[in-house]
Amino acid sequence: MVYLGLHALQHRGQESAGIVSTDGTTTYMRREMGLVSDIFNEETLREIPGYAAIGHVRYSTAGSSTIKNAQPFAVEYSKGSLAIAHNGNLTNAKIIRDELQNYGSIFQSTMDTEVIVHLIALSHENLTLDRVISGLKRVEGSYSLLILTDREMIAVRDPHGFRPLVLGRLRDAFAVSSETCAFDLIEADYLREIEPGEVVHFSENGVRSYFPFKKVEPRRCIFEYIYFARPDSRIFGRTVYHVRKALGRELARESGVDADMVIPIPDSGISAAIGYSQASGVPFEMGLIRNHYVGRTFIEPKESIRHFGVKLKLNTDHETVKGKRIVVIDDSVVRATTGRKIITMLRQRGAKEIHFRVTSPPTRFPCFYGIDTPSRAELIASSHTVDDINEYMTSDTLRYLSIDGMKRAIGNGSDTFQYSFCDACFSGDYPTRFPWGMELEQMELFVKR
Ligand code: SF4
Repeated sequence: MVYLGLHALQHRGQESAGIVSTDGTTTYMRREMGLVSDIFNEETLREIPGYAAIGHVRYSTAGSSTIKNAQPFAVEYSKGSLAIAHNGNLTNAKIIRDELQNYGSIFQSTMDTEVIVHLIALSHENLTLDRVISGLKRVEGSYSLLILTDREMIAVRDPHGFRPLVLGRLRDAFAVSSETCAFDLIEADYLREIEPGEVVHFSENGVRSYFPFKKVEPRRCIFEYIYFARPDSRIFGRTVYHVRKALGRELARESGVDADMVIPIPDSGISAAIGYSQASGVPFEMGLIRNHYVGRTFIEPKESIRHFGVKLKLNTDHETVKGKRIVVIDDSVVRATTGRKIITMLRQRGAKEIHFRVTSPPTRFPCFYGIDTPSRAELIASSHTVDDINEYMTSDTLRYLSIDGMKRAIGNGSDTFQYSFCDACFSGDYPTRFPWGMELEQMELFVKR
């Protein structure tokens, strides 16, 4: 079941994958670099038997892309075995790591997840649940976690709830996942979102929920809706597909233009382009065709692969675009190099006008909470106006969705909607203070260290 769930979540990370299982007395582990389908087969799955398991697919935000940083991270310590799967980024991991290393702790990886493991192991509490809670009280940043021991599993979401985490049920078993698309595949029922700051403990005594952390305003990651999550998933209480369509509708209202067709940059732009088309009446076309055997360029760790990836991934044809006035829908613009290449390709195939429309505001600030946006030096909107970017991309016009438009779309037009999202990569309004009261410039240097 975990193997199938990882298949459904493959879009969240393609560098490495792993599963740790337990039969109640022994822990079994399989972790490798590569895709879920390459790593697991009948034989390798037989090596990880048991009645409970956790799994992980990784793309690196903190820590390099190597096997020692693959997850779940598993250790044996004085209280037994413990495995952990972590989605997110801790903002104070380096500080705690330095402190622990000064006291003699030895780290096996460069991931901030290992800091959590050390804090759990060093805790003076007796029960695993209490050790986990006391360890997590020291960390800051984003974490959706699954922790597995021989006899219990613990799911935790950080107090702001940056990254998604959902609870499901499959007959007499429980399931926890980043997104509901994994439940659909294994035919588990969706029960509810695990709340920001919630700890759910699964053991032979049943399932219990706790809220042990200081309460703060929830700040769910809005970029999960814009780009990261799968459109068929339900996260943060709404289906991603419907939110993306609403983003497209808002974009059409804010910056519609006379055109012959609207085309998405697949796959993430498809739902928004449908919404744009429905609101504007401009016909939807698949003007760009994606090669599905190439991964998502945004989450490849190396610059060289990212640039090469655009041509590998997308193509267009004369018959569809020649002589046409085209609205191109993308979810975000990071460096603008991808958009520029796509526009060049469309012009080479004879497109007459290209109006580039983005379903998010300009990405001007880096993310420290688990999405691999680069520092401001590489974010084109940090240092260039929309007109400058339009000129660089060679589009006829370029428009972004406004922050207010984005909020309206997320709220689905409801007057009672409470906006509880992080939008720091667009607004610079970071929900957490940086360690030692650092300013943004210092924090950017600090995370690169
Ligand atoms: Fe999401 Fe942006 Fe906030 Fe990061 S900074 S958690 S990508 S909204």
